[in-house]
Amino acid sequence: MGSKNLKAIAVRGTGTVPGDNPKRLADISAEIYDRTSEDMAAQAIRMAGTAGYLDMAAMYGDLPIRNFQVGEWEGAGNLSGVRMTEEYLVRSRACFKCPIACGRETRAPQHGLDRVDGPEYETLGALGAMLQIDDLEAVIQAGHLCNTFGLDTISTGGTLALACELFERGLLDTTETDGMTFRYGDAQMLPQAIEAIARKDGFGERLAEGSQRLASEVGVPELAVTVRGLEMPMHDPRAFHGQAVAYVLSPRGACHMQGDMYSVDTGQIELAEIGIAPGERLESSDAKGRTTARQMIWRALYNAINLCQFQNPGSDLVLEALNSIAGWELTLDDLITTGKRILAVKRWINQQRGSTGEDDRLPVLLSKPLDSGGTLGSVPDMDIMLAGAYDELGWDEDGFVSEKALRALGVRMES
Ligand code: SF4
Repeated sequence: MGSKNLKAIAVRGTGTVPGDNPKRLADISAEIYDRTSEDMAAQAIRMAGTAGYLDMAAMYGDLPIRNFQVGEWEGAGNLSGVRMTEEYLVRSRACFKCPIACGRETRAPQHGLDRVDGPEYETLGALGAMLQIDDLEAVIQAGHLCNTFGLDTISTGGTLALACELFERGLLDTTETDGMTFRYGDAQMLPQAIEAIARKDGFGERLAEGSQRLASEVGVPELAVTVRGLEMPMHDPRAFHGQAVAYVLSPRGACHMQGDMYSVDTGQIELAEIGIAPGERLESSDAKGRTTARQMIWRALYNAINLCQFQNPGSDLVLEALNSIAGWELTLDDLITTGKRILAVKRWINQQRGSTGEDDRLPVLLSKPLDSGGTLGSVPDMDIMLAGAYDELGWDEDGFVSEKALRALGVRMES
């Protein structure tokens, strides 16, 4: 889409989608609404948006600080969801019929903004803590600029954090950046840098290619915090070891939407009937790898049928809703097989493009323990967790998906 200067495809329809059993669907919807309304995690998000997680994330060591290199930072308190709610919230917003209403509209009067979207937790982390910028209004403005230009705030923040790191180490200077400086804690750099990225203007063109390419060009690929070229979201895998497995097995690179183990191991999600239960967050084991694989399977289904991951009414209602819309009679086992199939097919496509189990690796910076904070001294042991995850997913010990495994999942292979 980028190479064609295409920003979005909007589709508008005039028909209706009645579903196979509208009466049953209405009943299930009411039940999902009730269960979601009573859910504690959902209530917390309703009160402070996803930003409400920031204080807890800082406590666990889940919030990345200074390009994932520092375990504690007192500035995090200035970015909290409570402060945002008390001082900058204009109103909450909800998707159609959602009782959670996680969306925020905020103001940033110092920057002349009286009502803009966000920021989400991910944006506060990426454009705030990663850069050690604790000026909440500056982060609101930066998030708004990214939204306006259509930039992902995680990749933008990750790449700017790398630029700061390169400046700090003397590997980059103003002669290469059109006079722009990149310093941790400097909120002034944000508007100019974000616009330069969006317009691919001067040094912005190099930033726009992302952290992996910039770090390689400068000769320090080990400083890029990416998996398969995608910047790491704002959940440090040292704080939840299962998250490390989800990041490295995510088909599109590090992505927190492909298996949120921070939700499982903080007790926000439990689906005992499919083997997803909270455990010790700093544990690296075969069992942790298996639980993560099951959460990835479940989220692959969520993503395929376009469910919001903040709504977790239970597998029984998800299954019933799907069957009542489509007129199917699927069982829970069928759903799990479908989730496995989705992951296997994506893995197989990546294999065809040269990706192997060797790519299932955390970035170098994340294999180093931090000396303070909620992850103190802890790093995931990838080999033992990956062995469990591969086996759970039906892949071989090297993470390879065979055609036989694909056929067993119901994929028809054309020769
Ligand atoms: S559906 Fe999800 S994204 Fe939309 S308002 Fe509800 S919780 Fe937020």
